[in-house]
Amino acid sequence: MNIVILGSPGVGKGTYAKILSEKFNIPRISVGDLFRKAMKNETELGRKIEDYVSRGDLVPDETTIELVKKRLQEDDCKNGFFLDGFPRTIAQAEAMERFKKISKVLNFVASEWIIMSRLGGRRTCRECGATYHVKEVPPKLEGICDRCGGKLYLRSDEAPQAIKNRLRVYLEKTKPVIGYFRKRKLLAIIDANYKFEEVDKVISQCEKHLQNLGEDSRRRRI
Ligand code: AMP
Repeated sequence: MNIVILGSPGVGKGTYAKILSEKFNIPRISVGDLFRKAMKNETELGRKIEDYVSRGDLVPDETTIELVKKRLQEDDCKNGFFLDGFPRTIAQAEAMERFKKISKVLNFVASEWIIMSRLGGRRTCRECGATYHVKEVPPKLEGICDRCGGKLYLRSDEAPQAIKNRLRVYLEKTKPVIGYFRKRKLLAIIDANYKFEEVDKVISQCEKHLQNLGEDSRRRRI
């Protein structure tokens, strides 16, 4: 079950991918997390991509494709994965088709109003990467991670100017990827216009598409 997760920045795809990953016992691979880890550890990759990520620009395709290809070859992905944040360009989608068969693409959609309010209020733990929202999912203690006690911060790519840029980049580079997968009949649209307490309503839509997938492949085997 090789699942691609698409959606505008701020739609909540990371949160949904984490829940799905636990339910289906298949790893969530977040490309943004891989990049942030490299920057935190100040690796060569981290230094190379830092400027792109903090401006809210896409990291060049070649670097991103190489990283994802390697990560998906690891052992934990052998039964599948939820890939969060890739592909974000047509070139990445074409490359991915060459190295992995995609079972389904879940495209999360929400109104502009929901997206803007989610993006501005997000806070991330500097230590473990857990995410919160100042209004929807606040930590028990302001500014402190419930999970590990680390300090929460506003990511540089979530400052107002970078948010604007990320949305512009999304419209220009990533939105065409939706049409690309629609043509290949892999696309499922998930309505994510729900409050955090109603997360089940979003997840149950995903489950319907993923269950059908199981039935489809069983039918093909018969
Ligand atoms: P995310 O956490 O998914 O919003 O990603 C954070 C940042 O990582 C993005 O704003 C980009 O700078 C970079 N990034 C993540 N995924 C990709 C991708 N598929 N291609 C290029 N850059 C990416």
